[in-house]
Amino acid sequence: ILTVEHLIKAYGETPVLDDISFAVKPGEVIVVVGPSGCGKSTLLRCLNGLEPTQSGRVRLGNETVAYGGKNLTQLRQRIGMVFQSYELFPHMTVLDNVLLAPTKVQKRPKAEVQQEAEALLDRVGLLAKKNSYPRELSGGQKQRVAIVRALCMHPEILLFDEVTAALDPEMVREVLDVMLDLAKQGKTMIIVTHEMQFARAIANRVIFLDGGKIVEEAAPAEFFDRPKTERAQRFLRTFT
Ligand code: ATP
Ligand code: MG
Repeated sequence: ILTVEHLIKAYGETPVLDDISFAVKPGEVIVVVGPSGCGKSTLLRCLNGLEPTQSGRVRLGNETVAYGGKNLTQLRQRIGMVFQSYELFPHMTVLDNVLLAPTKVQKRPKAEVQQEAEALLDRVGLLAKKNSYPRELSGGQKQRVAIVRALCMHPEILLFDEVTAALDPEMVREVLDVMLDLAKQGKTMIIVTHEMQFARAIANRVIFLDGGKIVEEAAPAEFFDRPKTERAQRFLRTFT
């Protein structure tokens, strides 16, 4: 469904992604891990066409995702993204946040979208909060709303960038559980996280990035129990 071919990205003179290639099949969950600054967020931003790249290619189905590309608005609707900082509109209610893009960008009928939005909010335990404003929610609740908002666009693939990093420990679980539920439903996802137990539980494949390169790519049991490279071993030791 998504293929990345020899992606190279630099900020000015500084290389950030160095010849990244991988492919994601429908229903697969890829977890990307690696030290701070290794290029994880940049990679997700490139997959979504948010960043210009120096060379290489990202393809979604038969189409090329490119920064400034003329089909980008179209393609972005097929790639959902959830950020560490939620990015909810503060002046809009939970429901209006969720309805905005499906009705304004996708031009779907409001009644239909609202029904779906309420069902999704219900599933993450937030239907009672549909008329609340983001400032009235906890971090974990805000993040669940952000996930529902992404889902309501019916994306073919969902990208998650450290969505629990800003949360208090007791709220991390409720967000991770929503993601585990999505994986069970067969959603295709690329997840950047520092939650290693969660990574192991949810991933079909782990990509270990260091210095802008894919250093290891393996099944979770293999990566976590028998990391091949010294760099991955050192990285994993910082979590125990
Ligand atoms: P973290 O785990 O801390 O979120 P990361 O793996 O997501 O790190 P990136 O945010 O992708 O790392 O950053 C990769 C490198 O690119 C870093 O060295 C960073 O300083 C640099 N970088 C990121 N954004 C920019 C920018 N807009 N301009 C210049 N350099 C940048
Ligand atoms: Mg990051």
